Amino acid sequence: ATKTFHSLRPPAPLPPPSHPLSVSHYALSLLPSFSSSSSSSTFLVNASSGDRLPYPDFLRRVRSLALSLQSRFSLSKGDVAFILAPTSLHVPVIYFSLLSIGVVVSPTNPLGSPSEIARQVHLCQPAIAFSTSQIAPKLPPVPQGTVLIDSPEFESMLTQYSSSSSGDCPVAETLPPNRVEQSDSAAIMFSSGTTGRVKGVLLTHRNLIALLAGHYQMRLERPEPEPQPVSLFTLPLFHMFGFLALLRAFAFRETVVLMEKFDFVAMLRAIEKYRVTHMPVPPPLIVAFVKLEIAGKYDLSSLHLLICGGAPLGKEVADRFRERFPHVEIALGYGLTETSGAATRMSGPEEANHHGSVGRIHPNMKAKIVDPTTGDVLAPGQRGELWLRGPTIMKCYVGDERATAETIDSDGWLRTGDLCYIDSEGFLFIVDRLKELIKYKAYQVAPAELEHLLHSIPDVVDAAVIPYPDEEAGQIPMAFVVRKPGSNITESQIMDFIAKQVAPYKKIRRVAFISSIPKSPAGKILRRELVNLATSVRSAK
Ligand code: AMP
Repeated sequence: ATKTFHSLRPPAPLPPPSHPLSVSHYALSLLPSFSSSSSSSTFLVNASSGDRLPYPDFLRRVRSLALSLQSRFSLSKGDVAFILAPTSLHVPVIYFSLLSIGVVVSPTNPLGSPSEIARQVHLCQPAIAFSTSQIAPKLPPVPQGTVLIDSPEFESMLTQYSSSSSGDCPVAETLPPNRVEQSDSAAIMFSSGTTGRVKGVLLTHRNLIALLAGHYQMRLERPEPEPQPVSLFTLPLFHMFGFLALLRAFAFRETVVLMEKFDFVAMLRAIEKYRVTHMPVPPPLIVAFVKLEIAGKYDLSSLHLLICGGAPLGKEVADRFRERFPHVEIALGYGLTETSGAATRMSGPEEANHHGSVGRIHPNMKAKIVDPTTGDVLAPGQRGELWLRGPTIMKCYVGDERATAETIDSDGWLRTGDLCYIDSEGFLFIVDRLKELIKYKAYQVAPAELEHLLHSIPDVVDAAVIPYPDEEAGQIPMAFVVRKPGSNITESQIMDFIAKQVAPYKKIRRVAFISSIPKSPAGKILRRELVNLATSVRSAK
């Protein structure tokens, strides 16, 4: 226990666990600590149309939708809502209203294939779904049907219960009365964890409250200069990073400019037009900033903080960015869906100088570094698997006791599957990934899922999928394939076959044929050997 690392940040006060509270109500309770210059300060802006949703209007819609859903559907606390929709001003309204009445939100990528979506629906067992008329045909039937958020019915649910006076009422009364316990489920997000296929990560209201409380504590220590930050989100709201950034921005009364579709030039224009100060970004966006000459053609002087996480950021890229944009600070963070998002972060320019580190452990979080073969707990500076414990650690993988038990031990420690060390000043460094997971841009690709599809090709005898380094995406999925004797199936036929069945970010982008897949005596794929093989072939070229 002496080698356990405690957060060096002051502990964040949490509400008593038995106090009934939803994360929406908790976030709302933080709002008054952040001043707004006018009572109509804007929460959401649609980057392309310029449509604005001020805080009072947002809350009115949240309340009206919550009450309409309760009256039109027989939703009870603990029911799950599957959300399959592209980013729009409606999505945050849906999240906050569902959370405020204890309906569990389960958002996912609208670009998923019907079979991927069917699997996620099977995992989270939704009572109801939210989608758009274009995307809804990909959904299997759900018991209470699918609400189309581009329909007149949905529009009417947003206004049905909003009296014009509610904009003036005290903020605490703008949500339906809280009936949620902190221990109730809040969200099911999808992750493959350290091994195998996609699983549903169950997070409680308490997990998300603890996360916000930690951020709140860090924010109090380092207040933002006035005026309030304007954040531009290119991140998808269904990923833990975007979901968390949204909750946080709301609680801190920030303005969030949402991009419905990512486009680098439109993003630069939006920074200029809305005088954007902050952006949560995945590493490939920083790569784009340093690569594209055009970035210099826009007025980016308002921008002063990029919060970067989700995948590793190369040191050279970070250095080039700092040279080119010296007025912008990069605050690196690290976390997992299983830790409700961020578990470490840089805070302030002094910390940001610890190049190569992903910052210090969040308030209320504990860490240890464990030797992956002996199980010994290691000292500062030594490399091993990072284990984390604290109030933001997920409750479980839904309906998968085995995977949960393999990931969280009986003392509540979560194995991250990341090879790390912590220095004597408490900074975390990520050295490598021990787990199977591939990160294409910051998106998760589970090798097991692609291997399963490869095995369904009649000409394929055996297959293994590994990460292959790529400058732009970080990693791309690469397949090693053993063909049936006499088969002439080509690399491109294999790639096309997979591409038809998966979301675009999961495509196999490289194939090599091999005579057999290296395996341990127990039949486990020796991925490290394949990674070495793939990269040695590359460097020999
Ligand atoms: P996800 O659940 O999609 O957020 O993926 C979590 C995994 O992404 C972590 O276990 C890491 O392997 C990787 N990851 C997230 N943030 C970082 C970072 N800043 N640096 C390196 N790897 C990261």
